[in-house]
Amino acid sequence: MIYADNAATTKISGAALDAMRLCMQEYYGNPSSLYSIGQKAKEMLEDCRSRAAACIGCEAKEIYFTSGGSEADNQAILSAAKLGEKKGKKHIISTAFEHHAVLHTLQALQKDGFEVTLLDVHENGIVHPQQVADAIRADTCLVTVMYANNEIGTVQPIAEIGAVCREKGVLFHTDAVQAAGHLPIDVGAQNIDMLSLSAHKFHGPRGAGILYAKKGVVLSSLIYGGAQERGKRAGTENLPAIAGMTVALEDACARMDANAAKLLPLRDRLIEGLQAIPYGALNGDAEQRLPGNVNFCFEGIEGESLLLLLDDKGICASSGSACTSGSLEPSHVLLAIGRPHEVAHGSLRLSLDEQTTAQEVEQMIAAVTDVVTYLRDMSPFWRDLVSGKRPHVFEK
Ligand SMILES: *Cc1c(COP(=O)(O)O)cnc(C)c1O
Repeated sequence: MIYADNAATTKISGAALDAMRLCMQEYYGNPSSLYSIGQKAKEMLEDCRSRAAACIGCEAKEIYFTSGGSEADNQAILSAAKLGEKKGKKHIISTAFEHHAVLHTLQALQKDGFEVTLLDVHENGIVHPQQVADAIRADTCLVTVMYANNEIGTVQPIAEIGAVCREKGVLFHTDAVQAAGHLPIDVGAQNIDMLSLSAHKFHGPRGAGILYAKKGVVLSSLIYGGAQERGKRAGTENLPAIAGMTVALEDACARMDANAAKLLPLRDRLIEGLQAIPYGALNGDAEQRLPGNVNFCFEGIEGESLLLLLDDKGICASSGSACTSGSLEPSHVLLAIGRPHEVAHGSLRLSLDEQTTAQEVEQMIAAVTDVVTYLRDMSPFWRDLVSGKRPHVFEK
C-alpha cells in the first residue's frame, strides 16, 4: 500500500508512540495533584511546554495545549474578536481558501455582527501582503491567513503579512497546521501574534494541538472548568498526547531540512509525471508549495471515482481536504483559485512524506495515468470534450 495522504493525517512515529506509552504507564498522575506522581506528570507537562516553545521560538508561557488545530483556530479567532469588540472593532480579514475551522468560525462571527473580508488568493494560490495592507481598516481587529494551504500546499508570505499587521497595530493569527514541522516557524521573526498547529500532521497523535498566543494577547476560554492552561482551557491535560506531540514536533523540526531535501525531487518528479497526462493542470504555485504536496485537476474526471480506483491499486489519495471529501460540493479552495466547477470536481491530492520512495512515485504516476485514461474512456462528458461539443478548460 502506498500512503499518499499525509496532508489529511500522518502515521504516528515510533518515538511519539514510545513517549505516549511512557506517559500512560509512568506519568499517569493528574498534573493538578499535589502528591509526587501528580507532580511528576506536572513536570513532564511543563517540560513539553518548554520544548514545544523552543520549536517555534516563543516562551513556554505563550503555549496553550489544545485538542488540535480546529480548537486552536476557534480559540484564536474568537479571542481576537472578543478583544476587538470591546474596542468597537468588528472587522476581520482572512482569505477565501482557509480551512473550515477558520472559515466556519468567521461565519459564526458574521452572525454576531462582525464584518469579514476574504482576500482573493489568485490563480497561484498566494495572497500578497499588499492586499492585506489595503484591506486593513480602522475597525479591523484581526488578520488570519494560513501559513500553508491544506489542499494545494501553497505557502503564504507570512512574515511580510505579519509585518504589515504589526505596523498597523492589528493582531495577526496564522493557521500553521500544514506548515508546522515542515516549514520553519519563528513567531518573533515572522511577526506572529497567534498560531495554531496540530500534532497529527507531523507524525504525532490525533487530538493534540497548540495555540501560541503572544504575551499580552488575552485569550478567552472555549471550555470552562478548572484552571488548567493558565485558566484558558479547562480539562485534565491529555499528557500522553501532549508528550507524543512534543517529541514528534522536535523530530520534525530537527529533520526539516533533510526531509525537504528528500521530498523536493520526489514531489517535482511526481508533478512532471502527472503533467504528461493531457488536459490536466497542477493546482497552486509550482515553487511556493509544501515539499510534499501535489494537487492536480483533470478534465472529464470525477474525483471520487478516481480515488476509489486508486484505492483498488493500493494508493491512498484524496480529492482535497478530508472534510469535503464525501460531499458533492467542489472544493472551496479550487474555486478560490479560479478553477471552474467541472474541473474542480476532478481533483487529486497526493501528499508525500519522508517515507515515500522514488519507486512509489513511479507507481503513482503509472496508476493515475491508467485510471484517468480508463475513466475518460467511459465518460460521456469526456466524449463531448473530444468531439468539440464542449470546450476544453486546459490546454493539452
Ligand atoms: C488538519 C487541519 C486543521 C484541523 O486540525 P485538527 O487537529 O484535525 O483539528 C486545521 N487547519 C488546517 C490547515 C489543517 O490542515
